[in-house]
Amino acid sequence: MESNTGMDSQLTTYITLVSVSGIFNVFLCIYVLIRRREIPGARTFILYTIALSVYSFAYAFGLASDTLREVKLWTVIEYIGMPFSAPLGLMIILHYLGWKVSRRQAAALFVIPSVTLLMVATNDWHGLFYKAFRIKEGLSLPYLEIEIGDWYIVHGIYTSSCLLAATALLLSRWRQTRRSYKPQLITLICGQFIPMTTAFLYLVGLTPAGIDPVPMVMCITSGLYIWAILSAKMLTVIPIAKETIFDSMREGVIVLDSAERLSDYNRAIARMIPALSPAMIGRTLNEVWTELTGAAYPFVHQPDGRDEELVWTTDGAEQFYQVRYSPLRQRNGETAGALLMFINVTELKRLQQELEHQAFYDGLTQIFNRSQFIARSRSLLEACRAEGSPFAVVLFDIDRFKQVNDHYGHETGDRLLVHVVEVCKRQLSPDMLFARYGGEEFVVALPNASLSDACAIAERLREALESEPLAARGSIAVTSSFGVAEADAGPDVRLDTLLRQADEALYASKRDGRNRVSAYRGALASRP
Ligand code: GH3
Ligand code: MG
Ligand code: MG
Repeated sequence: MESNTGMDSQLTTYITLVSVSGIFNVFLCIYVLIRRREIPGARTFILYTIALSVYSFAYAFGLASDTLREVKLWTVIEYIGMPFSAPLGLMIILHYLGWKVSRRQAAALFVIPSVTLLMVATNDWHGLFYKAFRIKEGLSLPYLEIEIGDWYIVHGIYTSSCLLAATALLLSRWRQTRRSYKPQLITLICGQFIPMTTAFLYLVGLTPAGIDPVPMVMCITSGLYIWAILSAKMLTVIPIAKETIFDSMREGVIVLDSAERLSDYNRAIARMIPALSPAMIGRTLNEVWTELTGAAYPFVHQPDGRDEELVWTTDGAEQFYQVRYSPLRQRNGETAGALLMFINVTELKRLQQELEHQAFYDGLTQIFNRSQFIARSRSLLEACRAEGSPFAVVLFDIDRFKQVNDHYGHETGDRLLVHVVEVCKRQLSPDMLFARYGGEEFVVALPNASLSDACAIAERLREALESEPLAARGSIAVTSSFGVAEADAGPDVRLDTLLRQADEALYASKRDGRNRVSAYRGALASRP
């Protein structure tokens, strides 16, 4: 080989640059290898740096080779690394963004690079990668003269697609990324842009033809990664753990800035409100809420305010949320923003409703129990007194109920109680307060009813019960005895007095032969 000093020194510079790039990658590889336990995704990163080292060193050796045979050999070795570096780089970004790449997906990403390697290794037989591949005579740069083949184009498109996909994914995360992690994001984006821009400059002819500048700039990309790892703790557990905790919380969280604009939200809230999108970040809570629900945000936040309650329908199911507002303060005490936490309390709410139901209703007949009757009829009575309207109560007790239990068993007795309630409900209107007063004793409070109104209603119940036997074991007929009392016009009629009077009238019905209605009229008078 004739000597050309200018070209030699230029070539030496290229070889040095490419080797430095290779050394950087080896350094990175060893560093990550040592700290692999604390660096998530370390394996992909190690493979990436190995691929880049192989690529750089083989390219450097290729540049230093004299014969075509040597150049070809180093080119094949170069392609053991280079085509794999692009998908590995993409996998690092995917890992950083929290995507899980399965073995199958990883294998799929390596199909084209493997074919590329095979094509390069066997190019002499088919020429599908390089149509022509020779050392330029005359010894001035360009040093290699190549004509690209069909598979070279496939390889080029695939490699740039990997870089572009990684860049697009990083850019799409820009708004969602917390400010403290943005330097890492910028570093990673630059790491993608540098080889892309270099390849572009090479393609449009702005760098020396025949010399691939990409392996030289890969040392800058590697440098950025080193800087990111050492200074910003990129790919170390801490920032990723924070992100993971935020996203794996069961409570929905919305982060607001000091102007109540949406600055972040976690996965739980995205599941709760599927219409919430990253495009809404930067807009005020009220704007976003109005778009999502058609109504303004319902709560006014006080720094030490109480939790609010919210009903939200997700997938057709009503969900109850407790909404907690916590201001975020900076070290100097100024408000930096706030956290809005949405805690799903649907199950708690359901239990609470069940307990309330149990406290209000009789478990067997599902009508009000005695204590609810007392509480509610007391206020009904007060309302009637205030309006000057009459108020009456009807108390009744099933006749010879014990015999039903004795003959048919307790279970049939229970069914009869339910039956009695069903029959009576059909005779009563919603403004009448019907309750189970005791074992087989029932009571009806009748607002705005006089004594004769109440007696008529009691008579209707008596007839209905007598004429509708329970269809069990053939047919079980029962009757009931009734006592009716009306609140007199005195200034302070007490409910317990009224009930005692009704009970006295009921006792008179029993004494007079059962299956009848008696009214309390001071001195008792009875109706058949
Ligand atoms: P009377 O005509 O004098 O009212 O006769 P009676 O047999 O109905 O007498 P009493 O009111 O003293 O008896 C009520 C019976 O009702 C006693 C009790 O065992 C029964 N009982 C009370 N609560 C229930 C219940 O929830 N289920 C069933 N199966 N029986 C009940
Ligand atoms: Mg009875
Ligand atoms: Mg009784």
